[in-house]
Amino acid sequence: MYSPIVFRCLLAVLGVVLWAAATSPCRAGMVSLTFDDGLSSVYSEAYPVLKRHNLKATVGMVVNRITSGNDDYISLQEAHELQDAGWEIASHGLTHQRPIDIPQYFEDEVVEGWEPDGTNAEVYEAKYDYHSVAGLLENGKPLKEFTRLEDVRRAKGSFYFDRLIGALHVHPFNPMNAEREDIRSYSYQRELCESKIALEKLGFKISTYITPFNYWTEEMASLSKLYYSQVANGKNMANRKETCDLNWLYRFNVLSMGKTQDAVRLIQKHAVEQDEWVIFCLHGIEDEMGWEPWSADNLEELAAWLQKNQIRVVTVSEGAALYSSVQQARRR
Ligand SMILES: [Zn+2]
Repeated sequence: MYSPIVFRCLLAVLGVVLWAAATSPCRAGMVSLTFDDGLSSVYSEAYPVLKRHNLKATVGMVVNRITSGNDDYISLQEAHELQDAGWEIASHGLTHQRPIDIPQYFEDEVVEGWEPDGTNAEVYEAKYDYHSVAGLLENGKPLKEFTRLEDVRRAKGSFYFDRLIGALHVHPFNPMNAEREDIRSYSYQRELCESKIALEKLGFKISTYITPFNYWTEEMASLSKLYYSQVANGKNMANRKETCDLNWLYRFNVLSMGKTQDAVRLIQKHAVEQDEWVIFCLHGIEDEMGWEPWSADNLEELAAWLQKNQIRVVTVSEGAALYSSVQQARRR
């Protein structure tokens, strides 16, 4: 028989072991559900399903959509309700661009070579080498985009991008000094930096960036560390805690998720058997808006399975914090 003191010590040791098992990031794999673009069905369809099973998710918001008042997207009030319920709000950019389509850094933003376009004394034209314009600024003031040159001729403070020939037409606020004005085209660095600031001003806690179109580059992964603790991208792979790059987390897209059973198989293989982190990339639920919607029935089945099997489901920032602590411990 153990003496009472030894017995108490054994109990204490057992308690510590059980506590460590319950809290250790090394214990088991995990799963995250992410919803890109902030579509309204995330609130109306996904939220009630996940709430019923006591699960939460991460939703990637695009600033110019959430502030547009367009009811295809979650309202600010709904997004706050999600955050209050433990969901994570992540940035999905200011305007949803790919880094190869616009200037990369702040220093690449200035557009030069303005010349009168010959049709209107106040409208100027310049060659533009990028595929897309996320926004234009004249001395820090946003210019309004039109889809027809005629509209630009009429309105000061506006622009038109002729994609076909790669030309920008600008009707500056200050046409007399147009050639000397500082006209800038939004860079990806601005997308990263200002989307975070804008979402924080709206009251959201932002530490995660979700890449639009699942498109990411080494340069932007490195730059993102200035603004975000973690970034979720694509690639249809799971994340290993010792080796994964927190600013380049992999996600499985909805096609690789297939039906619920396919998603369950991915979780069993990667999270349960190999102790990896499986992040799913979803968009809309049960509606035709957006890219590859998943059905509410599939989500219901998956959520019930996750709950029944006590799989650890985390937001992206929670998962990254666990992995970060493991990676830091390895470096010590
Ligand atoms: Zn997107």
